[in-house]
Amino acid sequence: MAHFAHWLSVEKTTLNRVGEQTVFRFLSVHLAICNCPYPVHRTVHESRAALRHLLNVLRKSGAIVNRPEDRDPLYLDLSRFDGYMDRVSELSPSTRRQRVSIVRKFLLTEHEKGVGTFKFQVQQIS
Ligand SMILES: [Zn+2]
Repeated sequence: MAHFAHWLSVEKTTLNRVGEQTVFRFLSVHLAICNCPYPVHRTVHESRAALRHLLNVLRKSGAIVNRPEDRDPLYLDLSRFDGYMDRVSELSPSTRRQRVSIVRKFLLTEHEKGVGTFKFQVQQIS
């Protein structure tokens, strides 16, 4: 948990913004390239269980809201797009947020024009 807290501070993410996307990026991206100073836990399985518990505690205490994907239909696709940019580029978090925002506007515009469903693949928009 201390490792996750350290990573949050490096990412300049506050605890009230933590959610599935944050945990996913920590487990799938950060742990694979982690070079944080010893001692840190780098076991994905143990970290996943601990972070799942953390999310539950934070939700029950009201520190974080319900899962974003429950109220945002684009959340999962845009999270994958953000994860893709994080893995293959050196883009800063703020640059990635800007690009995700641009893609979100594009998808919403296409939806309003009558596309109807969001069936874009991340590879098509990256
Ligand atoms: Zn680390």
